[in-house]
Amino acid sequence: MTEIDYYELLECERTADAATIKSSYRKLAMKYHPDKNAGCKDSEAKFKAVSEAYDCLKDPQKRAAYDRFGHAAFRNGGGGHQSQDFGGFSDIFESVFGEFMGGQRGGGGRQQTRRGADLRYDMEITLEEAFHGKETEITVDISAPCDPCHGTGSKPGTHAHTCQHCHGHGKVRAQQGFFVVERACPLCHGSGQVITDPCADCRGEGRVEKTKTLAVSVPPGVDEGTRVRLTGEGEAGARGAPAGDLYIFLHVKRHALFEREGTTLFARAPISFTTAALGGTLSIPGLDGKRHEVKIPAGIQSGKQLRQRGAGMPVLQGRGNGDLVIQIDVETPTKLSTRQRALLEEFRETETGEECPQSQGFFSRLKNVIAGE
Ligand SMILES: [Zn+2]
Ligand SMILES: [Zn+2]
Repeated sequence: MTEIDYYELLECERTADAATIKSSYRKLAMKYHPDKNAGCKDSEAKFKAVSEAYDCLKDPQKRAAYDRFGHAAFRNGGGGHQSQDFGGFSDIFESVFGEFMGGQRGGGGRQQTRRGADLRYDMEITLEEAFHGKETEITVDISAPCDPCHGTGSKPGTHAHTCQHCHGHGKVRAQQGFFVVERACPLCHGSGQVITDPCADCRGEGRVEKTKTLAVSVPPGVDEGTRVRLTGEGEAGARGAPAGDLYIFLHVKRHALFEREGTTLFARAPISFTTAALGGTLSIPGLDGKRHEVKIPAGIQSGKQLRQRGAGMPVLQGRGNGDLVIQIDVETPTKLSTRQRALLEEFRETETGEECPQSQGFFSRLKNVIAGE
């Protein structure tokens, strides 16, 4: 895998749109194509690198991941690396299905059934934390490879022996009618190895229960149900087989002011009837820590929504923010002073009905209904 910046390779700005990237890639692919540069190692390497860069940047999801994490986004984590897993079931599907398909994970085929289980950890975060992201630690009781035997299950200084029953294949075949059925060897449980001198610490299991503290990085923009995957931090595999993954399921607590739908934040803002009639400014404390000054036009009605572009939740793995939508609730005063009451009485005397066309229209329609017209 190349370490050169993909945008640099494709001679594009980081802000370039898909069409620009595509045309630049085509130009470069033509230039370095092996057919045109027979035997030139430099061109061949360049051609490969350019193709790799384009493979990534043409896919919006991969591009977003690359923009956030760079090349690290696609490096396959060995033990203990965090990778991000956002929504969708493909990852869980792959890890479950991969075992049957014999692909995806964990080296030699015969050990795949011994891979450690995936684990789930539920974490509650606030909406502010979902907005800003969060670096935190969790403590989990987890089965981990046994230290004295290095996860092999054999007493230190001894080795497992090749299983005599399956000759180390881990599988045995049996004839059933017309079919030959292959199944895990009953003697070695598919590992192909038999432990003759089990380790005293783990009794030959190769793993022990441990309390582990793990660093978790919650990226900005996560939502209820978003999963963060810690690769290789699940249950240890038996006898040195690959560990499973730990999935952190995020739950976002209700916020006192904001509700959320995707990247849009909603807030209800009660305003006085005088502000509604005369107009004014509303100051809303945003999750970004800034105050958002929202202009209220004179004559605004209850239920009207005012939209602040870019003041909503950040786009997960992407750029920019959603919007903040403020729903106006005009509040009728309930406690009037004598002077206020007098002023309103005076105001009422000046009313002609033109000030409130909606209620005027409503009452005249009502009169018509009552009059049977
Ligand atoms: Zn066997
Ligand atoms: Zn052990």
